[in-house]
Amino acid sequence: MLILIADAFDDRMPHRLARFGEVTSDLARLADAEVLLVRSKTKVRRDMIDAAPKLKLIIRGGVGLDSIDVEYARGRGIDVRNTADASTTAVAELTLGLMLALVSHIPRADASLRERQWLKKELERSELSGKTLGILGLGRIGLAVATRARAFQMRVLGYHPDVNFTDFAEIVGSREELLHESDFVSLHMPLVPATRGCINKKTLAQFRRGAFLVNTSRGEIIVEQDVADALRSGQLGGYACDVFTPEPPRDSPLFEAPNTVFTPHIGASTRENMERIGVVVERLLEAHSG
Ligand code: NAD
Repeated sequence: MLILIADAFDDRMPHRLARFGEVTSDLARLADAEVLLVRSKTKVRRDMIDAAPKLKLIIRGGVGLDSIDVEYARGRGIDVRNTADASTTAVAELTLGLMLALVSHIPRADASLRERQWLKKELERSELSGKTLGILGLGRIGLAVATRARAFQMRVLGYHPDVNFTDFAEIVGSREELLHESDFVSLHMPLVPATRGCINKKTLAQFRRGAFLVNTSRGEIIVEQDVADALRSGQLGGYACDVFTPEPPRDSPLFEAPNTVFTPHIGASTRENMERIGVVVERLLEAHSG
């Protein structure tokens, strides 16, 4: 069995998988691959699937399957799996980190000090404690963010199309109500047709004036130009994100907007998560090998 590792995984991955077959990272061998390992970089669309007639299993190291044409692959008899629960802690911790970076101006404080500026008076911080956090997408990561936010003494609201109760957040009846009530809004839903572009000019007007928005989910869930406009008008007090449209971003309107903090899609990139992804990939290959 040929296992093709298309994206960056833990350095030890080839060694870990050697007991299942030959392991390669040579994309030119796609036509002979039975198993394909990808993260978010490689987009597995129809042309790639058609070029891999021996493919039986695609493993996405991570959560979102939006980078894979799942329906087409499954229609060709190819199993598509992810390492869903491995990344939860890593993304939840980055989300809290981005919230703290926004309200404490950590990137600007650091950059200005290096330019020998002492902005002690200018950099007025604010606190998470006592504020309301609204979470859209109360799945694994959303709930992990909720539990951490409660440790920061935040009030946590959640909206979910079909969840009415949870121990971790107060469930509100609509997305509009959540946006209206929240000082911070954090996005944790998958990129699907219903969520694509759902944070836009119209929904941004439903936010509390000056609220903070954090996006560690997918760039396409927001309309970047509308978020940049809301930052400029003061409707949004700040925006922090780990995800962009496209990736890497070229001329994102967000780069010119005020009060932003960015990271280059590193939500899942902790050492510990790479190890956990390795464990799950091994288990999936054990099951595949029967
Ligand atoms: P999950 O499937 O456990 O949770 C997503 C939740 O969103 C589900 O409960 C789903 O029912 C809910 N949902 C779907 N549509 C919704 C809507 N319209 N409104 C509100 N809720 C809705 O997934 P997860 O593990 O929590 O991951 C969430 C997303 O985070 C992934 O889909 C992926 O896009 C993103 N992610 C990003 C990184 C990163 O590196 N930044 C890493 C992992 C995951």
